[in-house]
Amino acid sequence: MALIEGIFEPGLVVTTVDWVLNWSRKRSIFPMTFGIACCAIEMIATGAARFDIDRFGSGAFRATPRQADLMIVAGTVTFKMAERLRRLWEQMAEPRYVIAMGACAISGGPYHVHGYHVVKGVDQVVPVDVYVPGCPPRPEALLEGIMRLQDKISTHTIAKR
Ligand code: SF4
Repeated sequence: MALIEGIFEPGLVVTTVDWVLNWSRKRSIFPMTFGIACCAIEMIATGAARFDIDRFGSGAFRATPRQADLMIVAGTVTFKMAERLRRLWEQMAEPRYVIAMGACAISGGPYHVHGYHVVKGVDQVVPVDVYVPGCPPRPEALLEGIMRLQDKISTHTIAKR
């Protein structure tokens, strides 16, 4: 992608290429198998038959960051974990995306005041694309977050800015 990105002026051909690339990208967001606290139970439920994340092309949870393009930070991020989380994010293929799922990942949640060991927002460690609030958010909320991420991917362009 880096080969053709930022070379062409916006135009009909570029717009069509953008549409095809973005369509294929947003319909095949592969999340990493990665859950760090109670919110992960809701993330797992999202992949089960009742909620069926496969409808969005995101059912293929990958066991390695190299094959994943979405990190769903589902749970409490401790300072001890933050370094590992960052390393996993760096190993992911680009373009890569992050969803902060739940109050803990967004702001420290119930640990915000007294949790000396908890990072007060995973956006201090990795860039976050979509925030899904709740303690824990229900699977429907995570699906909504994935749809908002799809909207964001739709706006990508290879054209010169
Ligand atoms: S937001 Fe609530 S449910 Fe999610 S990890 Fe934190 S305490 Fe657990």
